[in-house]
Amino acid sequence: MEVISIKPFGDFSNCYIIKDETGTAAVVDPGCVTDELISELDKCTKVEYILLTHGHYDHIWAVSGLKEKTGAKLVIHRGDEAFLTDENLSHGVKYFPGEQKPLKADILLQGGETLPLGNGEIRVMHTPGHTKGSVVYIAGDTMCSGDTLFCMTVGRTDLEGGSMHDMISTLERLKALKGDYKVLPGHGRDTTLEAERQRNRYMSKIERLKQQYGYKG
Ligand SMILES: [Zn+2]
Repeated sequence: MEVISIKPFGDFSNCYIIKDETGTAAVVDPGCVTDELISELDKCTKVEYILLTHGHYDHIWAVSGLKEKTGAKLVIHRGDEAFLTDENLSHGVKYFPGEQKPLKADILLQGGETLPLGNGEIRVMHTPGHTKGSVVYIAGDTMCSGDTLFCMTVGRTDLEGGSMHDMISTLERLKALKGDYKVLPGHGRDTTLEAERQRNRYMSKIERLKQQYGYKG
């Protein structure tokens, strides 16, 4: 399995293509369509899924056009399903009022699924905190972490469906995963899980975070 990073346009999210050796692909968080994305997708034999880490506008804005072009199945956690048709939840209203195209999920996740991709598979981990329906997609030793885990920080928890208590519990579960992973976040630069275990001011200081937010677990 190979994961290709696609540079976003402006403030849109990072986008990734997960591809197995047969050329079957999944696109993670297509916020915007760029020439690079189209040219990489043209090299794939089939685009099986559009995988959303959550429902914010900057991660979903190009889904409609891409679904039409590729026929890929749209995948999101059920906790964020309503974002697909509500520009207030997705925050699309702030930047492009009235322009959000209503989307319909083909697969609603609950977490813990394994999605077959060509000869490989993608694992789904439910990671609420940034939104109720945030997930992380894991392919081999690489995880697409959306707005849950960033290089040296975490996603904000003050938007609709966000919760610092959920985030703390999510960070504990991520931290406890065995081994190391390459972490490809929704914004900013790549990192590794081990680097975040050591240096991320949230993940490395979970006990202090629990005290600060009165988290009992
Ligand atoms: Zn977000």
